Amino acid sequence: MQILLETIDLTKTYRSAGLEVRALRGVNLRIGSGEMVAIMGPSGCGKSSLMHVLGAMTQPTSGRVLVGGKDIGRMDDRARTEFRCNKIGFVFQKYNLLPMLSSRANIAIARYIHGSHNDPEGNRRLSEILRLLQIEDKMDRRPAELSGGEQQRVAIARAVVRNPAIVLADEPTGNLDSENSKIVLDMFRKLNRKFGQTVVLVTHNPELTAYTDRVIEMRDGRVVGEGSVDVGWEQEGNLMSEPVTEES
Ligand code: ADP
Ligand code: MG
Repeated sequence: MQILLETIDLTKTYRSAGLEVRALRGVNLRIGSGEMVAIMGPSGCGKSSLMHVLGAMTQPTSGRVLVGGKDIGRMDDRARTEFRCNKIGFVFQKYNLLPMLSSRANIAIARYIHGSHNDPEGNRRLSEILRLLQIEDKMDRRPAELSGGEQQRVAIARAVVRNPAIVLADEPTGNLDSENSKIVLDMFRKLNRKFGQTVVLVTHNPELTAYTDRVIEMRDGRVVGEGSVDVGWEQEGNLMSEPVTEES
């Protein structure tokens, strides 16, 4: 598998009011192109800090963060912003939809900002995404007229419609019940399979790792373990509908 994301001795230290918080203390990880990976670990261990650095929302204190071999930690502000806009889709715990706008407009704005709102290929992809997420009939509603699970699916559509290489989701099911969490993860997985986007998500729910290729365990600003998820995709009762073909 081709490596898309790699960090080497990555650190992030926050300094505020004379205090230092070492949020990342030397993170080394590699994530393959098209992989779907879960990051797990206790609150405060640095998961969000890692996501922010991977998504070029903030610069590392030291170490390297390579995307497709390029060190995004050393880009200037402009290059970093461009990288973030073109390559990254974010999904947040709190959905972050604009409350006054319909689902359709929330998604359209993301495409507009990106300059891809007239792209016919994007239109086709959007129809497919909405069908897969089962929110085609929710497009005229505002966020307040949707359930949490539906709002998150709109937010996912917004994040993936521009076809970013990498989708970063920080506790995307943190506000959802167990049933809706599984639905959202199942849909993430299907999008990941269909469009080949690399997905990195943070979760606290061990059950949800069944939808991922791999789990990365963090403690105290470091990666302390990694494992493939041994799941029989063909098992009965599994929400996955498509067989998985592994490449190496
Ligand atoms: P997690 O997402 O695993 O809960 P975070 O990456 O949010 O962990 O936080 C890691 C550590 O860094 C925590 O001790 C947190 O308080 C601290 N931290 C996070 N963001 C900031 C910030 N902007 N300024 C100062 N400290 C921060
Ligand atoms: Mg967090």
